[in-house]
Amino acid sequence: MRILVQKFGGTSVATPERREAVVGHIRQAYDEGYALVVVVSAMGRAGEPYATDTLQNLIAGTEVPAREKDLLLCCGEIISTVVLVGVLRKHGFDAVALTGWQAGIITDDNYGDARILRVDPGRVLHHLNQGQIVVVSGFQGRTEQGEITTLGRGGSDTTAAALGVALGAEVVEIYTDVDGIYTADPGIVAEAQTLPNLTYYEVCQLAYEGAKVIHPRAVEIAMEGNVPLRIKSTFKQGPGTLVGIRPRDNGVPIRRDRIITGITHMADLTQLKVNLKNDGADGLKVFKRLAQAGISVDFINVFPDQLVFTVSNQLGAKAEKLIEELNLEVQVRPDCAKVAAVGAAMRGVPGVMAAIVEALTEEKIEILQSVDSYTSIWCLVPRKDMERAAQALHRKFGLGA
Ligand code: ADP
Ligand code: MG
Repeated sequence: MRILVQKFGGTSVATPERREAVVGHIRQAYDEGYALVVVVSAMGRAGEPYATDTLQNLIAGTEVPAREKDLLLCCGEIISTVVLVGVLRKHGFDAVALTGWQAGIITDDNYGDARILRVDPGRVLHHLNQGQIVVVSGFQGRTEQGEITTLGRGGSDTTAAALGVALGAEVVEIYTDVDGIYTADPGIVAEAQTLPNLTYYEVCQLAYEGAKVIHPRAVEIAMEGNVPLRIKSTFKQGPGTLVGIRPRDNGVPIRRDRIITGITHMADLTQLKVNLKNDGADGLKVFKRLAQAGISVDFINVFPDQLVFTVSNQLGAKAEKLIEELNLEVQVRPDCAKVAAVGAAMRGVPGVMAAIVEALTEEKIEILQSVDSYTSIWCLVPRKDMERAAQALHRKFGLGA
């Protein structure tokens, strides 16, 4: 049995016309003889009736515990699973709907952001053996004890990758509203180019630094299971981006020496600068306090008398309060954004940082902070300048046509 997993994102299943496009892709693979597993996200984006954000808004301002919250959030994917099965059956396909837990997705109990521990593919295989198309709700699973969990943002990508690995799928296809992975978010950088093939490693880095086209965890799972991913448009024909096929298959290298793969961005960050009175000890107190409160920090610079880092805008006020309770002085700057130049081979290449500073300075964009890691250089800039900063870096590194 040749198995294919296809995942359709929220915009792809949002309207009856779009669901017809989805059926077109399913029909094509079906006609090619594949046994098909189709993973779907909740329909539409924030503000639309059955989107995950809309469900979340139903309980805003109330006190729903994490466990119960997941019971609510998993409904969006179940709705779209049933709707798609209806459309497929109307077209004459024998399709069956399974929730994440019915499809054997077993997770830990970290409600709202659970990790998949394993997949029991028995039930899915049973339906495939009957010749049925199996439509699975993404973004959800259950614990060993039977509690329902959700997988966090981008979780349907992870469901698709995990099923692909568990079923030994030939490929996992991720269908979305853009035709592949680009050198930058095409919604922001008009000259961005699609990247026809990328290594798992390159995609992981882009995803971790904010390219939300695919969830990094999904890439890790596919990489560990050695299943290739293809990112394609639901609405346009084309090869999209192929991730992670081995060199002997078609000559795509596993590692690559591209210095910069792409430019990423991440909005809605708050920068905090804490003045330290007795260096190390104070710094440690701050990190411990934030960690206890479950606040994750990023973009950290440590100086003898100062600690600089960012948190999400949402957590800015809480972090400020916790630090003030430690009797430390803190300056807070909300509404920042991070832009990053990402590349697997930039380490030690002279001039990359200089080029970034030059690009931003030419645009008169203030650099609030910068950090470099093995594979990326990040700059924190005011949120209002984020789009211009991403465009400037893209141009500076010649990533356009
Ligand atoms: P889905 O609902 O299908 O999962 P997402 O919104 O999660 O779709 O991901 C697709 C979006 O990712 C695109 O519309 C695009 O704006 C954004 N994006 C960000 N960075 C990139 C990139 N480097 N390449 C392609 N798309 C990107
Ligand atoms: Mg997504």
